[in-house]
Amino acid sequence: MRFMNRSVILYRGSLKSCNYKCSYCPFSKHRISERELEKDKRQWLRFVESIADDFQGGVMVAPYGEALIHSWYWEGLARLSASERIDAVGAQTNLSFSEQRDLGIFLHEKGKLEKLHFWATFHPEMISTKEFAEKCKRLKSRGVSLCVGAVGIPEMAEQLLALRNLLPDDIYLWINKMNGLKREYTHKEQEKFLAIDPYFWRELEVVPADRKQCEGRLFVEADGSMRICNISRKTRMNWYDSYDSYDSYERILKETECGQRICSCYLAYGGRNDFMNQVLFGPYPIFRIPRRAKAVFWDIEGTLIPKERPEEKELVKGITAEKQNVSDSVKKGLETLAGEGTLLFFATTLPYREAMQHCEEIRHWFQGGVFAGGAHVYLRYDEKEQEFFYELDEKILCQLETTCTGRGFRIVKYREKERLYKLTLLRPSKRPWIKNEAERLMDSLTSELRENIRWFLEENCLQIVSAKATKAEGVRMLCQWADIEQKDAAAVGDSGEDEEMMRWCYCHPLGR
Ligand code: SF4
Repeated sequence: MRFMNRSVILYRGSLKSCNYKCSYCPFSKHRISERELEKDKRQWLRFVESIADDFQGGVMVAPYGEALIHSWYWEGLARLSASERIDAVGAQTNLSFSEQRDLGIFLHEKGKLEKLHFWATFHPEMISTKEFAEKCKRLKSRGVSLCVGAVGIPEMAEQLLALRNLLPDDIYLWINKMNGLKREYTHKEQEKFLAIDPYFWRELEVVPADRKQCEGRLFVEADGSMRICNISRKTRMNWYDSYDSYDSYERILKETECGQRICSCYLAYGGRNDFMNQVLFGPYPIFRIPRRAKAVFWDIEGTLIPKERPEEKELVKGITAEKQNVSDSVKKGLETLAGEGTLLFFATTLPYREAMQHCEEIRHWFQGGVFAGGAHVYLRYDEKEQEFFYELDEKILCQLETTCTGRGFRIVKYREKERLYKLTLLRPSKRPWIKNEAERLMDSLTSELRENIRWFLEENCLQIVSAKATKAEGVRMLCQWADIEQKDAAAVGDSGEDEEMMRWCYCHPLGR
């Protein structure tokens, strides 16, 4: 099987039993025989052994019932975590395992605690808030990453708030929507849960299915049957089929349909490659452990707002740009991040004024950004204001002006006071630039000018800025001004212009 970088596999074995006896849960009633346990063990260890050398990513066990009370899951997770190619392993668990015995097995098998991630569910019928919070803290102190979850039962809001208060700030307590509620949450109930879990709004959204967001994901069951996620349609392939059973694994996986209209639970929507997932929860959002970046840099067109570009012509004339909408979901995400104290910055090829026109509704959450493809960097934060422009040599204008007639473009100049910092060679939108033509034009400049500029194409616009001006450079500058370490920065975008800044910030590109 060939995988994409940083793929995620969810594994569900044949286990359907639990040591807890919660009144509402079907798995608490199922008695499992020794034979069934043996079968589950065999299947899981077979799966662990079968993960090919070319897999790079994370593996999470999403069992029916409780898996981590069985030693073989610890052995398997340890073996997986020992592989250099596997960044993260973990499981959904009620946390009832024995720390001493089971972490002992994990370490004995050379498991890496720093790769271990738990999605720990709190069961108020079975354990007290205090006992549960203490166990979370002990695990955290041993280097295990974990989040805590509970179902948003309105009557339990006070108890969940108490649990929130007992947990340290760096352990996220999430609230799942209660499926059996059979009514909407009241405004007051929503407020209560939002005070516990600032991301609870995500549970209340309807997330339309979008297969494109699910590349690199797999849900594998004990018998090897596969889906994209836990609720999608099964593929034609089986995990254990031989490589030559199909003409192309990649093609079949790509062609496998989702079959759903909405991504109706967190295991589905939480594992998608959406940029908001990655910003909030890092490269493996399925583990639900917040990334907590201190600064996030956002591309505008194609990321914060839909791809359709407004006519550049309208923008450069200074006419208010055609209104592009930032989705409510993105707005909520920005608001949550801003509320948590994360610094938000734009990182765009648009000049400042046009960027602000596009982002009128959300600009108040931002502290400045990188504009004009990196030629303009601006910070307004903590009563501090800083600004920098990479200038262009005026000589380039004379040379371009002599060549523009007959080439079907006009020149739009961007200046700060008298200083020239960006040029747009604008064509009618029906006649976008072709790369060869642009190259020929740039080759016609003197070598001295060529060496000092950087150019790139955006449909009908050939953009020219200083050679030193890039989004990545602007991001570095802003991080320095705002005292943000590289590891604490995240960036999202969807084009080649964004790749360097995303690499620098160690975040996934959207288009893989
Ligand atoms: S239902 Fe599953 S496969 Fe379909 S889009 Fe949602 S998460 Fe992806």
